[in-house]
Amino acid sequence: MSAKPKFQSIPDGAGFYGDFGGRFVPDTLVAPLEELEKAYAAAAADESFWAEFNRLLAEFVGRETPLQHAARLSAHLGGAKIYLKREDLAHTGAHKINNAIGQILLAQRMGKKRIIAETGAGQHGVATATAAAAFGLQCIVYMGADDMARQEPNVYRMRLLGAEVVPVTSGSRTLKDAVSEAMRDWVSHVHDTYYLLGSALGPHPYPRMVRDFQSVIGTEARAQILAAEGRLPDSVVACVGGGSNAIGIFSGFIDDESVKLTGVEAGGTAIAKGQHAARFSGGSTGIFQGMKTVILQDGDGQAEPTHSVSAGLDYTGVGPEHAHLQATGRADYTYAADDDAVAALHLLARSEGIICALESAHAVAHAVKAAPKLPKEHIMIVNLSGRGDKDIGILRAYEENKNHDR
Ligand SMILES: *Cc1c(COP(=O)(O)O)cnc(C)c1O
Repeated sequence: MSAKPKFQSIPDGAGFYGDFGGRFVPDTLVAPLEELEKAYAAAAADESFWAEFNRLLAEFVGRETPLQHAARLSAHLGGAKIYLKREDLAHTGAHKINNAIGQILLAQRMGKKRIIAETGAGQHGVATATAAAAFGLQCIVYMGADDMARQEPNVYRMRLLGAEVVPVTSGSRTLKDAVSEAMRDWVSHVHDTYYLLGSALGPHPYPRMVRDFQSVIGTEARAQILAAEGRLPDSVVACVGGGSNAIGIFSGFIDDESVKLTGVEAGGTAIAKGQHAARFSGGSTGIFQGMKTVILQDGDGQAEPTHSVSAGLDYTGVGPEHAHLQATGRADYTYAADDDAVAALHLLARSEGIICALESAHAVAHAVKAAPKLPKEHIMIVNLSGRGDKDIGILRAYEENKNHDR
């Protein structure tokens, strides 16, 4: 078997998935993105690049991750047979490391010595700092000053790994401002600096590259379910923030039209302005952070505030390939409310002994709703994108608040 993943034909040469994607950036970013696109095309055509990537996934990340039959959860729900793809067991506790390793390898190949990233909740910053440390590369992570205060344990982790965490004090002091700061850095240090983006979004070629690196999830899951059941699943479910874990697992099944693909966004407290991050339920097409996609915006095209109990799903825009899959009907998108995600996390913990991430709990919440109505022959794979250790403090505060409300 070739080490190279199987690629779908989309996007087109300009980075469009149907109407979505592309490269909507200031002139100063065009040359760096073209350099990156060329370097990635050369790497992607090189068997030895993928052989090295797969070696690192095995030795450093601990792949392949298991596909586990969730027998007790399935029995409890009394319908579909549920399997869990255990990305929570990957090194650092989530799928983000797959992408970080892929891009670090590319940075090394391009001769870049300095890695920059931006992070909101800190999970992508931790994955980037981890990969940079493993390669002995300098790592600078931009983070909003308010986010740093909220996510102190992740700031400490990044510093332990040798990364420099730079507080961003402009604007709203959150992710949006950290992105602007990282872009400014990239433009002025492009000769030696690699900008490592964390999800399947932003300007071309990032959505494509991140999808390719995360497609290992779908490739493994497809082979694993064929080995376990002798046939394809009936449905695959994943949570959608920027969309990288979902596109990673979907990509293994996109060409199998019989497999229903469902993405689950953050329903927050209500589908009303500022209370959720379900782009496909309250959003519209617009240009945001270098791409054309579905975003939450007001009538003037200003980004609306978002909310979710899970930091990783709390984002204005969705990755462009998902916008295309939704527009063409190949995938369906729904949402789970904060309360339903927290309840699903509890149910999974008690029925299977797995404390999943709050993001992943949105996918589990959909399974909890859908599985009882499906026959026992229905095989459903739920992507468990990460583990919940990082969320213990948030969960505790959430439940204390609930108790006060009663
Ligand atoms: C960051 C994160 C997500 C959301 O990002 P995607 O790019 O949509 O996958 C989901 N789950 C976990 C555990 C995360 O850390």
